[in-house]
Amino acid sequence: MAAQITHVKDAMRPPPGFADVAKAAERIAPAAHRTPVLTSRTADEETGARLFFKCENFQRMGAFKFRGAYNALASFDAAQRRAGVVAFSSGNHAQAIALAARLLGMPATIVMPHDAPASKVAATRGYGGEIVVYDRYAEDREAIGRRLAEERGLTLIPPYDHPDVIAGQGTAAKELIEEVGPLDALFVCLGGGGLLSGSALAARALAPACKVYGVEPEAGDDGRRSFRCGQIVHIETPKTIADGAQTQSLGKITFEIIRRDVEDVFTASDAELIESMRFFASRMKMIVEPTGCLGFAAARRMKAELQEQRVGVIVSGGNVDLARFAALLGG
Ligand SMILES: *Cc1c(COP(=O)(O)O)cnc(C)c1O
Repeated sequence: MAAQITHVKDAMRPPPGFADVAKAAERIAPAAHRTPVLTSRTADEETGARLFFKCENFQRMGAFKFRGAYNALASFDAAQRRAGVVAFSSGNHAQAIALAARLLGMPATIVMPHDAPASKVAATRGYGGEIVVYDRYAEDREAIGRRLAEERGLTLIPPYDHPDVIAGQGTAAKELIEEVGPLDALFVCLGGGGLLSGSALAARALAPACKVYGVEPEAGDDGRRSFRCGQIVHIETPKTIADGAQTQSLGKITFEIIRRDVEDVFTASDAELIESMRFFASRMKMIVEPTGCLGFAAARRMKAELQEQRVGVIVSGGNVDLARFAALLGG
C-alpha cells in the first residue's frame, strides 16, 4: 500500500528543472566524487575541436548512475528509509542503488535476471544488496518489482524515468560546465534518457547556447526515431555491445525534456565504439565501457561541424570486465 501511495505521489510531481539539479548537487556532494575533466591533444587534433571529457568512469561504482541513485534515496522520508528500496536492473543501476542504500543505511532489494553476469551479481551483493532472481524469458521484472514493493512496502526506483534520478544525473554536466565554462556542444550517451535529460536541464540553465546531442547504439535507434516523430517509439531489446543502452524506449518524463531541450539524437555503431574504447585506452590510459564511448564516437563523426568549437563529452562509465575488454579490443 505504501508503495502505491508513493507511486501516485511520484506520478503527480512536476517534471524536474534546473533547481532540482542544483538541489541534487548539494544532496550528493558528501557521497559522490567530483570526477575529473580530462583533455587530449590527440583528440583535439583529430577532431579540430577543443574537447572536454567528463570522466564518470571514475565515479563511485564506476558510472554516473551513482548520482541519480543517491539523490533519489537521500530524498526518501523516514518511513521509506526504514522499509528500503527495490530496483530491477542487471547493470550499473543495480550497483548504484545497492551502494547508495548501504551508504544511507537502508535495505536494498535488487531484481536481476537469472543469467546476469556473475561479476555484476557479485558486485551488487558486495555492496550489500539482497538479490531476487527471475527468469527473464518467463517472468516480467517490473511486475516482480511492483509485487515486492507492495508486499514489503518498498519504494521502487526505476533506472531513468524518475524526477530525482534525472536531477541527480544532471549534476555531471553541471560540474563540467561550471569547471570549464560555456560549451558550444555537449555529447551525451543515451539509453532511457536519464543522463541526457538531466544534462540538458543543466546545459540550458548554465550555457543556453550549448547544443546538446544524445547518442545511442545504431542497433537501437528508438531515441532518434522518437525524437524525429514526436512520439515514444518502442523496439525489441537491441543487439549491441553497449549493454548500458539496451533500452527498449525512452521514458515519459525523459522524452518530454529531450524533446524540448535537446538539439538532435545520433547513433554510433559497435565498430565505432570499439575504436573509441581503443582510443581511450591507448591515448588517455583509461578503461571505458562500450556504452561510455557513445558520445565520443559521435563527436568524431561530426568533425566537420565542430571545428574550433568547445565540446563537452560525457564519458558515462567504465564497468567492463577485463576479459571482455581484451576480447573486444583484440579483434
Ligand atoms: C545507464 C547507462 C547509460 C544510459 O543512461 P540513461 O539514463 O538510461 O540514458 C549510459 N552509459 C552507462 C555507462 C550507463 O550505465
